[in-house]
Amino acid sequence: MSNNEYEIIVAGGGIAGLTAALTAARLGRKTLILSGAVPGGHLLSIERIDGYPGFPEGISGYELCPMAQEAAMAEGVEFVPSELIAVTRAESGFTIQAENGSYRARSLIMATGASLKELDVPGETALRGKGVSHCASCDGPMLRGKTAVVVGGGDSALQESLTLAAHAASVIVLQKDAQLTGQAVYQRQVGEQTRISVRCGMQVEAILGAQVVSGVRVRNLATGETSDLPAEAVFIYIGMTPNSGSVAKMITLDENGRIPVDAMLRTTVPGLLAAGLARSGAAGRAVASAGDGAAAAQAADRFLRNGEWQ
Ligand SMILES: Cc1cc2nc3c(=O)[nH]c(=O)nc-3n(C[C@H](O)[C@H](O)[C@H](O)COP(=O)(O)OP(=O)(O)OC[C@H]3O[C@@H](n4cnc5c(N)ncnc54)[C@H](O)[C@@H]3O)c2cc1C
Repeated sequence: MSNNEYEIIVAGGGIAGLTAALTAARLGRKTLILSGAVPGGHLLSIERIDGYPGFPEGISGYELCPMAQEAAMAEGVEFVPSELIAVTRAESGFTIQAENGSYRARSLIMATGASLKELDVPGETALRGKGVSHCASCDGPMLRGKTAVVVGGGDSALQESLTLAAHAASVIVLQKDAQLTGQAVYQRQVGEQTRISVRCGMQVEAILGAQVVSGVRVRNLATGETSDLPAEAVFIYIGMTPNSGSVAKMITLDENGRIPVDAMLRTTVPGLLAAGLARSGAAGRAVASAGDGAAAAQAADRFLRNGEWQ
């Protein structure tokens, strides 16, 4: 096998990709992972990862992710800090174009995750990094004595509003739906935190501010009235868009743009698998993505051993 040829290439260095690569290497496969400069994906910026087995008090992403990377490297996984740009089928596997060059793989595991959605309202792009953020643990400490708005009402929005409440004087959660949708445990904790207020049925129409964020314009969906809420920062957690475009020419994505897989995480293309948030039916929790990574690597190994796919 030449230098740029691998038995298994994993695209994506989140917890799904790190676990897939670790598992593939432990199975004796020559494995490469194409990832961003610092592996970890979403987990990297989460102050306290809840619900991950073995850590009843939670664990921070900046502790867990390097441990997962080191474990994979100790098994012989090669890391290339370069993203997959395009993939095509080759005679015995795939040709993968990455930012830094071209690779061959007999099996490819897509663990490219998903990106947090934008609100797509006036002011958002201009004020990104000037008060508009996706990272509560990074920007929360700068909000002492200030007001933060969190947009969304699911797990991520509620969890990150709790992170922000440790720093900001007040946190306003704006949810478009009539109710919050996050886990009961987060809803209870948010309800008990006096610095957080929740307003349902509110749609953000614009982010206000000249140089930095000064507030948001919201519409009350029940009355149709708009009003301006002063705030120094806006954190947006309104869902995710899967990073699956690079395989869209080879397989038909599902209605949400995710990669359809069977129970063994195999796509309809022999040798191509998907794990974590990029695949159809992903559970959206870190442990589920890690489990996917391990299962996908097992299935890829089996394919390389006996050539059977369906
Ligand atoms: C705010 C927030 C809080 C959360 N809190 C928790 C929690 O407490 N507990 C919990 O269990 N879960 C939590 N989650 C969910 C958890 O983070 C995800 O389920 C998990 O991280 C998904 O892992 P993944 O590897 O599938 O995807 P990701 O974390 O999205 O990782 C995918 C990686 O692939 C990279 N990538 C994308 N495209 C390419 C490409 N073309 N080439 C190479 N690399 C690429 C991305 O940059 C990223 O590094 C939270 C999520 C958010 C947003």
